[in-house]
Amino acid sequence: MGVDNRPGQKHSSIENLVIIGSGPAGYTAAIYSSRANLNPLLVTGFDKGGIPGGQLMTTTFVENFPGFPNGIKGPELMDRMKAQAIRWGTKLIEDDADAIDLKERPFLIKINGEIIKTNSLIIATGARANRLNLPKEEKFWSHGISACAICDGSTPQFRNERLAVVGGGDSACEEAVYLTKYSSEIHLLVRSNTLRASAPMATRVKANPKITIHWETELIGIYGNDWLEELQIRSKDSNQIENLSVKGLFYAIGHTPNTEIIAGQLDTDSHGYLLTNSGRPETSIEGVYAAGDVCDSEWKQGITASSSGCKAALAAERWLNANNLIILNEQLSEIPKEVSTQTDTKISSEANYNSKAVWQKGSYALRKLYHESSKPLLVIYTSNNCGPCYVLKPQIKRVLKELNGEAQGVEIDIETDQDIAKQANITGTPSVQLFQQKKLKAQWKGVKQRNEFKQAIEKLL
Ligand code: NDP
Repeated sequence: MGVDNRPGQKHSSIENLVIIGSGPAGYTAAIYSSRANLNPLLVTGFDKGGIPGGQLMTTTFVENFPGFPNGIKGPELMDRMKAQAIRWGTKLIEDDADAIDLKERPFLIKINGEIIKTNSLIIATGARANRLNLPKEEKFWSHGISACAICDGSTPQFRNERLAVVGGGDSACEEAVYLTKYSSEIHLLVRSNTLRASAPMATRVKANPKITIHWETELIGIYGNDWLEELQIRSKDSNQIENLSVKGLFYAIGHTPNTEIIAGQLDTDSHGYLLTNSGRPETSIEGVYAAGDVCDSEWKQGITASSSGCKAALAAERWLNANNLIILNEQLSEIPKEVSTQTDTKISSEANYNSKAVWQKGSYALRKLYHESSKPLLVIYTSNNCGPCYVLKPQIKRVLKELNGEAQGVEIDIETDQDIAKQANITGTPSVQLFQQKKLKAQWKGVKQRNEFKQAIEKLL
């Protein structure tokens, strides 16, 4: 468990406020409560219930968050919220909470074997993408099936191939439109006779000649050898079964709230969403608040999540005050220094390549290091709008920094360097490969804990 503490912060054995979750709700609660000097601790989550940063990490452009007239990429918006929370003094634990006990006061949170005590708690754990649980779904997961077109759509195996998306909401429509960048034949499988998506999104899909909508259609079977090749679909109207050859299938069939960690301890509705009084953040236990999609089965927008995170932070502060439970952080005497968010690395060329640099980008650096360096070489394959890549890149950079230059890293954008991605058999982003002296030593798919990479490199040193 790594706790990143802002220098000069005071600590107590009991936290004022712990926030669980790092989507817009969690970070907004963190911004408000850290500015109120509560010195909050935010547990970002890691791989339970989605990725750190939440669902906006797998969205391309957010066009409706006020303040960004030209839209902003989902991962970039989350990066900015995170930086703002840290700037004002939020402490972060970049891990999953394993258990929460609300029977005792202070409340107890178990993370990686450690127990954290807190007087108040905000649950902002969001919701996660649903699956169909069809036979062979597991076999073809990452071998044709994905729940994130934005992350995986640009992989070579999907290019210029026939693809399918299941669902009829905003996510399904957004994914279908996004995939038309890579393929001219997208099949949208909708189980009813209407799109649940917002009107502008639905209109965009219906007007797109590359998208065929199959109304009242159920997906009933998935077939292939090593890679997905065929879907079996049934028309609910005629009961007719049809085979559809596709190389990619993208799920966009809604979400389930992430409440397992407090199962049976707080009131929920019949679908598992945390219950609060209308428009308020208080849950069924005093001092415990809910914010964002975990308690919102209806609106589920970034801005509504942020707004409920703000309310939860203000309510927690009032409640702590009323109960004389606040341990105040030292008054911030000056405005904290401005912070920066992730910036793109320049692509290396003959002119700016540096054989000693710990982190570079592009095929030139990869070729040079692969052939000429004796150090372990981590190659991270990313794509432009991939949210999980945003999560993983700083973790890998941190590992390389901790290893003091004994290993090197190269980022490969699979859209810019398609041939390299194909050769490396990359089936989704982020993917990471570890080489030493031209030999592949290990590989990973998706977001993994920092330590996994570090231990694999240390074995080679
Ligand atoms: P939704 O719950 O809105 O839609 C889920 C879709 O999946 C529905 O069409 C539903 O069908 C279908 N579905 C559910 N279960 C199955 C199943 N077992 N088999 C086949 N189809 C199924 O989820 P979304 O993820 O699309 O959106 C969640 C929220 O996020 C919404 O509020 C949405 O507006 C928002 N969003 C906004 C975006 C934006 O503004 N850019 C982008 C993406 C999401 P049915 O209608 O028959 O129930």
